[in-house]
Amino acid sequence: MDLKQALQKLKAKDLAEGPADAPVAPAKSPARSGGASAAKAPLIEIFHSVQGEGRFVGNPMAFLRVATCPLRCLYCDTPHSYTAPQRFPVKLGVRDLQEPNPVAADRAAELVRQVLGAGETGAKVHRVSVTGGEPLVFPEFVRDFGRCVRQKGVRVHLETAAIDPDALAQCIEQVDHLSADYKLPETLGAPAKPELALAPGASYGAQHRRCVEIAQKRGATVDVKIVLTDKVGDASFERALADLEGLKEKLLLVLQPATPFGAVTRTVARPELERFLALAVKKQFDVRVLPQVHKQLQLP
Ligand code: SF4
Repeated sequence: MDLKQALQKLKAKDLAEGPADAPVAPAKSPARSGGASAAKAPLIEIFHSVQGEGRFVGNPMAFLRVATCPLRCLYCDTPHSYTAPQRFPVKLGVRDLQEPNPVAADRAAELVRQVLGAGETGAKVHRVSVTGGEPLVFPEFVRDFGRCVRQKGVRVHLETAAIDPDALAQCIEQVDHLSADYKLPETLGAPAKPELALAPGASYGAQHRRCVEIAQKRGATVDVKIVLTDKVGDASFERALADLEGLKEKLLLVLQPATPFGAVTRTVARPELERFLALAVKKQFDVRVLPQVHKQLQLP
């Protein structure tokens, strides 16, 4: 079983099972008439905050966190996203709504508009970050959700591990900005499913590269984020640069020192960080070193 087949199997299983504590109906195909959509996904939360990563750092925006992730990054700070709750909170500032899982794309779009309305009255540009978990386990949902909110002028950011180019191809037309995490092997734990094992190096790099190509061809802005811990070595970092070499003209490379969390107790040391930065500069990447600003500000 290859990675794509495994992801599809995982998606079917999650939607068939639904939340751990309640049976739910499986997802339906999107309804093409009338602009409505029945594509569904299990969510963890919808909330408003400040983007803490990448080129949009500091921008206020809504966040829609999808449940389910096939990976297990050692630095993962959202382990609560692995399993969908029966209901998920929609944080509107003065009050929270509780919505049942899984949610239809058009309903999720309406909830995001409410969150943006509560948090950004009068804003010139509204944005929503679709994050996870791994949103590309549910590409039809991402596509239909994006179609709904973009019709209202909201720009869609997609945060993904970029391991499934075929899933990304299904929804990329509704994505304005792609934040693709390139996972170095030293930062990956055993995946949730043994069959999802990502071979360090060639196979992961090829999948990631195809995702970036798809987004660039569509005209989306693209950040490739590499999280650095004290375990990362030169060989895997240089391999990542080699994988991205042919795409560097249209991407921003973000080096993100890991925020200690879970199994990661130490971030990258300063000399190593400076050496990784110098390697990227030497290869003429447009590169930034950015920490997770929302963590420093103690924002969600
Ligand atoms: S891809 Fe994201 S949600 Fe999944 S394990 Fe890694 S950091 Fe956590």
